[in-house]
Amino acid sequence: MKKHCLFCQEIVEMEQIGEYDRFKGCMCSHDSYYNLLSDDYSAIQDYPYDQKNKLFPYISAYIRERVDQGESVSLSLADVQELAVHNKAPSTVEEKETRLLLYLRGRVTGHGEPVNLYPLDRQYNLIASSNLQEFVYVIERLRDSERIDRIGNVLRLTSKGWREAEAMREQAESSKGGAAEGAETALREVGTDE
Ligand SMILES: [Zn+2]
Repeated sequence: MKKHCLFCQEIVEMEQIGEYDRFKGCMCSHDSYYNLLSDDYSAIQDYPYDQKNKLFPYISAYIRERVDQGESVSLSLADVQELAVHNKAPSTVEEKETRLLLYLRGRVTGHGEPVNLYPLDRQYNLIASSNLQEFVYVIERLRDSERIDRIGNVLRLTSKGWREAEAMREQAESSKGGAAEGAETALREVGTDE
């Protein structure tokens, strides 16, 4: 049967697996799936509108990141509440730029390799956004500041973008190790768990 994914709003194939609804192929997991405790679906659906607006794009991004790393994701209402407390969604445009730069860096092994974001209109959860317009805006800003090249759906870090992403990765690594007093970019929050 088809069911509405609460986090990305797409209507996709859902299979009941034990106590869980398994959502297949929505924007949250693309070619994969994630599970949501069936009994908790309504309670999550009943979140107030403004909370949904802030939280659900972030949860979609969270699922996608985990699934991309090959993890199996199963969520309950308690998990959603936990994610709400520790919501690390990028909120400013600059933080969203950073998130996209780091994603592009993470997708390639070497400088100059392209990343194909097809279909582009199903990728905006990469920056925990709730709409395509904002995603395109962030892409255009990265292009205007010469941090990426873009041909249609294909994005590529420029030398400047690559250097910036590398620096942010190093900074995130060192702040994980607890030695990042000098860290000063938006990435600081991304790198710290507590
Ligand atoms: Zn979804």
